[in-house]
Amino acid sequence: MTTPPSARMRFHVDGWDPAYGSTMEDSGEATTVAESTARIDAAVEVPVENWTPVAPGAPAQEPSAVVFVDGVRRIEARVWIPDDAGTTASMGVAASYAAGAVCCCSSGGAHVLVAEHRRGLFTTDAHTTDVTTRAGDFRAHHVAHDEAESPAVTLSAALQRELLSLELITAAAARAAVTGHCAEADTDLLVIDGPLRSRDHLPRALGFIKTHRAIYLPPELNAVVGRLEAGERTPVFLMGTSWDRYAWYLRLPCRPGSPWVGVVRVECAANLPAAQAVELASLSQRLLPPYASVEYKDPRAPQNLVPIAGLERQLRRRLGDQKVVYRALQVAAAAS
Ligand SMILES: [Zn+2]
Repeated sequence: MTTPPSARMRFHVDGWDPAYGSTMEDSGEATTVAESTARIDAAVEVPVENWTPVAPGAPAQEPSAVVFVDGVRRIEARVWIPDDAGTTASMGVAASYAAGAVCCCSSGGAHVLVAEHRRGLFTTDAHTTDVTTRAGDFRAHHVAHDEAESPAVTLSAALQRELLSLELITAAAARAAVTGHCAEADTDLLVIDGPLRSRDHLPRALGFIKTHRAIYLPPELNAVVGRLEAGERTPVFLMGTSWDRYAWYLRLPCRPGSPWVGVVRVECAANLPAAQAVELASLSQRLLPPYASVEYKDPRAPQNLVPIAGLERQLRRRLGDQKVVYRALQVAAAAS
């Protein structure tokens, strides 16, 4: 049986898997820590032999507003799209994702500037079209098939790219919203949850990394991280993986524990002059610790900064009730 091109796309929805809600999200917990092959230049701020914890410095020019940017994603269902002959089917992932920005400034306290959400159907099937459901339209995203990895990995990476691009749009919109309102032009600071990666062209932006999946520093420098007191940081270093950036480790205020408790990595763009990177590092020491969350309120404390945790809750609400969305996909599949 062949399907005429004008017909509605047929698809099937897999049984609901409770893991959809959790597995794709960053749990905030450190996973297996592996040695890294990253290129490191540790002599950016001080010579390597002088590496020692850096105490918070004298007040620098502080930004008039700190804007936190974050995104969330959720797999709604795995779907199968049969080919015209009905003999094989391509895998698809129906997902919801949202990005937003919250401003912390003297004029308005913490207030949400922008929040956007999207629904998408990610698949390697080239003929897949948008799917309309009562929970909203799932826009078709065609992803190139990669022989080297499983479709689940390929589709998850595609979803992550879309989320990053939505975060970029959000960051730009947030910048426009604060300028002249909460902050004078070019005096705000962006703090992006996660690595800067494709966002490193944004001026006055920091990446904020809560989980440590690899050891980047050689042992003698890595030991300095364990000696950091709350509010102290390592000297700035240059770090190259698939992309380059300046980075430093900072310990947020927390209860004593393992050597890495409360430690976050902060990054900024590698194309800045080194002195500017050091200035941003010093600024992060003054600005970020007051936003650290506390254990009795947040199991991901202290790394899950309070404004980011609040923003994530709002973004999740925007994704809607997971069971309702899943049911809407089932109804749309039954009608296809
Ligand atoms: Zn503001």
